[in-house]
Amino acid sequence: MKIVKEAAAGGMGTAVDAQVLSQINALSRRTLQAEEVYTFCVRLCDNEVDRDYERFPVETLEELSRLFVGKSGMFDHQWSARGQAARLYRTELVREEGLLTRAGDPYCYLKGYAYMLRTQANRELIEEIEGGIKKEVSISCAVARTVCSVCGEEARGCAHVKGQEYGGKLCWSELIGATDAYEWSFVAVPAQPKAGVLKGLQQRERLEQEAALGRKYLEGLRWEVVRLGGLAEPELGRDVCKSIAEKLGETELLALKKNYERRLSERFPVKTQLEYAGPAGEGGGKDGAFLI
Ligand SMILES: [Zn+2]
Repeated sequence: MKIVKEAAAGGMGTAVDAQVLSQINALSRRTLQAEEVYTFCVRLCDNEVDRDYERFPVETLEELSRLFVGKSGMFDHQWSARGQAARLYRTELVREEGLLTRAGDPYCYLKGYAYMLRTQANRELIEEIEGGIKKEVSISCAVARTVCSVCGEEARGCAHVKGQEYGGKLCWSELIGATDAYEWSFVAVPAQPKAGVLKGLQQRERLEQEAALGRKYLEGLRWEVVRLGGLAEPELGRDVCKSIAEKLGETELLALKKNYERRLSERFPVKTQLEYAGPAGEGGGKDGAFLI
């Protein structure tokens, strides 16, 4: 199965000595001179349990280490549109002393050594990397199996749920048996988020926040429809009303709410309270702005 992971990149270029140059030239179409290439390092992936509750154990990282040599890295849209790419000429498993993963084993990560040509078109990009911008790398690869950390069975077949704890033991999936490494992509994020375009993680976080606010708004609207339904159609019962409201989307909920409000205003002479209750759940209210 195909796996896509993200990690923070790091590390500046290394000196292009004879050994590095021969590793690069083993991959390049024509023989390159030291002054023609720019090199830098990226952190490709590690053995920590990630936010999807998955992780690459060391053995898989070792397999990936071999598979990623020679693989091209793409830059974000702005750069890849101009056909710019870097390539890994070497990879290395790096152990960080004294750091343990959530799984309890020593932390290590797969470090990639990349090169790109010092062309005119690449100059700006090289300057950005040199300038110490924050970097994120996402990789995509294929693994043969995912294994449950609690019972050791195939993760898809067992009863344990990723992210849950069983007897104090966290459940995650071990990604076992790397079969292919497709590519890595390099997303450059300015060190000052306010100064530039938000990309990658920050953008995703923003979307998640907006989605959460959207859900909150819909929940509020459902609650309001159930409340009004209870007043307008008490014979229906709160549970039925609730289960109807749960199946409806925003448009239907707003229509139903309007309908209940109209019926209630016909029935009750004093409208103030009902009208007061109205705007809070209205689509044009404050929360409405978060709906896309
Ligand atoms: Zn299990």
